[in-house]
Amino acid sequence: MDDKKIDLEQELKASYDLNIKELEKQYLQERKNCLLPSRARELVLNPSLWKKEERKHADNCPHCTSMLKIFESQIEHPSLLILLLWILKRLKPNECLAMEYHVEESNCQRCKHLLQSPWLRSIASLFQKGKGTKKYVQERLSNAVVGYMQFPATVGTFASKKSKPFQYRAMHTDKILSVVIRESDEGEMIGDVRCSKEKCAGKKVRVEILGKKKQIEAEVVLKSIGEQGCVAKYSFGSFYKVLSQLGKDAAVLVSFVE
Ligand SMILES: [Zn+2]
Ligand SMILES: [Zn+2]
Repeated sequence: MDDKKIDLEQELKASYDLNIKELEKQYLQERKNCLLPSRARELVLNPSLWKKEERKHADNCPHCTSMLKIFESQIEHPSLLILLLWILKRLKPNECLAMEYHVEESNCQRCKHLLQSPWLRSIASLFQKGKGTKKYVQERLSNAVVGYMQFPATVGTFASKKSKPFQYRAMHTDKILSVVIRESDEGEMIGDVRCSKEKCAGKKVRVEILGKKKQIEAEVVLKSIGEQGCVAKYSFGSFYKVLSQLGKDAAVLVSFVE
């Protein structure tokens, strides 16, 4: 009786091992061209490292697509205040180390672009001249909308005629101020700013699009659209031309002009 039981156990185990091996074989076959997690993280932080064949694979692979999405949503970036204190060289030693790891070693393009923001730099220089209290500066920074766009390889090229027009949306966590950067039917890069508070009508808003090669700035005035709040629209000119000036990716920064 006991012998038989052992036989049965061994049989079950053997069939289980076989199934697992078969599954593993399938898994490895299916994912043989997949990105390693370390590479996916590197590419999320610095999209200029994408190789053509990697991009082609990832665009068509559900495993890689979902892994990249997970990294995009999970990588934490320093706040605007930390970036400002970094510019001012006022970070504590441990914060300095964390920033060095994130910006220098990991080469986070989003944060590198933000560090070039004329708006952030002007606040830094105000603060340096003693013209803004810490509370005032913190408030201005915390009201800003920050986003990061990666332009698909086909966008802005001849091939984009067949693909969907580009659209990226960034919204403040309090859901009051938001921006959509999009490619219009006429091939222009449009920034649509929206504020849910009607009383903000007449206020000026600054939109910065910060690429590796260039920083583009615009100021727009919010106009009331009734109870739904107010809006402003700005054209940055030919989408293709702006893209060629920016590079493969860009940060977006939207703030109220005081
Ligand atoms: Zn893959
Ligand atoms: Zn970052």
